Amino acid sequence: MWQRFAMEDPGHRTFTGRCDCGGVRYRIDGPVRDVVECHCEPCRRISGHHLAATAVANEHLHLDADDTLAWYQRTPTVRYGFCSVCSSTLFWTAADKAHRTSVFAGTLDGPTGLTATVAICASEAGDYYRIDPGLDIQVGDRSLETPY
Ligand SMILES: [Zn+2]
Ligand SMILES: [Zn+2]
Repeated sequence: MWQRFAMEDPGHRTFTGRCDCGGVRYRIDGPVRDVVECHCEPCRRISGHHLAATAVANEHLHLDADDTLAWYQRTPTVRYGFCSVCSSTLFWTAADKAHRTSVFAGTLDGPTGLTATVAICASEAGDYYRIDPGLDIQVGDRSLETPY
């Protein structure tokens, strides 16, 4: 399934990003995944709407500033990284995908050149919102296996 995810110039793409106050700053140097929307209830509550994230192998994610980075350990295996000053949510990690980090696309410095392609956990989306019908809309997230 992951073959459908495009890679932008693998190994040569560079991004920067930060939280709103700048206490957390990061760099990505390497291939990244297309943007995935997650509409699950935790992502909905934590983001205030829905999560939209690219993902990158951990060795390609570099933290230039992390003084204010804090982690919300939501379950024994899943955690969200956020700024303890400005409350921006930036990262998501899961123990069963320990080699990679999801990076919330809205924290990237633009233009990103990235594209949202998939919406997962669509059945948990807020009822006030209609998911873009142009996305690959999945009720759950079981089929979502990506290399990073
Ligand atoms: Zn901040
Ligand atoms: Zn989610």
